[in-house]
Amino acid sequence: MTGPSLERAHDILRAQIDAPTAAYLSSCVNCGMCSEACPFFVETRDPKYTPIHKVAPLRKVWRQEYTFTGKLARMVGLSKPLSDAELTEWETLVYDSCSMCGRCSLVCPVGNDIAYMIRKMREGMAVAGHAPEGLIGATKRAITIGSPMGVKLTALQAQIGHVEQEVGLKVPVDVEGADYMLLLSSMEIMNFPEFIGAVTRIFDKAGVSWTLSSEAFEATNSGIQIGVSDLAAELVQRVVTAAEQLKVKSVISPECGHAYMAIRWEGPNLIGRPFNFEVIHILELLDKLHQDGRLKLEGKESDRLTFHDPCQIGRRGGVLESPRSLLHEIAENFVEMPEAGRWNWCCGAGGGVSSNERADELRIKAFNRKKSQLDAVGADAVVSACSNCRIQFEDGLEAYHMDIPVLSLTELIDKHLAD
Ligand code: SF4
Ligand code: SF4
Repeated sequence: MTGPSLERAHDILRAQIDAPTAAYLSSCVNCGMCSEACPFFVETRDPKYTPIHKVAPLRKVWRQEYTFTGKLARMVGLSKPLSDAELTEWETLVYDSCSMCGRCSLVCPVGNDIAYMIRKMREGMAVAGHAPEGLIGATKRAITIGSPMGVKLTALQAQIGHVEQEVGLKVPVDVEGADYMLLLSSMEIMNFPEFIGAVTRIFDKAGVSWTLSSEAFEATNSGIQIGVSDLAAELVQRVVTAAEQLKVKSVISPECGHAYMAIRWEGPNLIGRPFNFEVIHILELLDKLHQDGRLKLEGKESDRLTFHDPCQIGRRGGVLESPRSLLHEIAENFVEMPEAGRWNWCCGAGGGVSSNERADELRIKAFNRKKSQLDAVGADAVVSACSNCRIQFEDGLEAYHMDIPVLSLTELIDKHLAD
């Protein structure tokens, strides 16, 4: 990177320092407690994976620009400007060793939201040309094709055809005035089409008026993962436009962690206005239908089941009760992992880590934390509500020679639908 480009990177990082970020950076007491909360540090014991260290370039820019001693040190040459080597090194720390799980933010004694700062770092790094190839490719496909995996409408239509044949029901598309518009992740469409079948059967039984949109069926948001707010806003706007054109009352976020965070919590801020519809997670809706007596369930799993909370749905999204309420209905032997719920350990694949091939080895190392949790409860099967977590579990369990099925909670609910 040349001199002017480095200056640009410095300026971009400086622009990311808003009031919360400046407050966090100035209040850090260097206690190191965040390290023991991070699966990437805990499973490697490498100090470079200490969460607060991952934002060191941001801290450097903050010091040089906003503190008296930092300005002075820069003036007399004691504090060097950002170097290309630093940005290259931190690219791997910011993207490969952080799933944006937010666990470190929970433990900080002075309340620093480190995940928020890592997101700020990504904004600067991406614009400065320091984002991983895998995420750049996924983001390009999301913007140009509409899906990070390059899934086109024709592919969705083909999967819908298979699902309709299997379940004997119509999958509604572009139904104006439906109550709910369901989003899907590319992984659900291509890897787990049985999720579409499960939802179709459940909604039919519960009498839910719903539709997919041919204009905006993709739930995932690569703009959030790579850290470019403009692109994230463009992807959110596509969903908002489709939902408003179809005049639906609610948009359903599917079994995908960051998709829920993107549309439910970040969406209105990204596009700069409130939505004309509500956003609900599929598990919240299933729980509500059950509480209202519209979703009747029968039979219970006898296996010892445990639940993995996807970080963006549970800890950061607040959907903690619904999955448990549903699981207690259909599992007679449900067991919580240690540190479940808000304190759950990330599977290691969120925040775009799974789209970044360079991080594959580290991602599997981080999964060892999850393996320890599973070992502690001796579960026969693990249930979750995120396709990305599901694929990470399948990879991780294979890598650690564990033979445990990984189940979708929505699909499990479908299995227990009462006649
Ligand atoms: S957000 Fe999660 S993965 Fe990222 S640094 Fe914090 S604990 Fe580690
Ligand atoms: S836990 Fe908070 S105060 Fe302690 S080192 Fe991490 S960010 Fe700084």
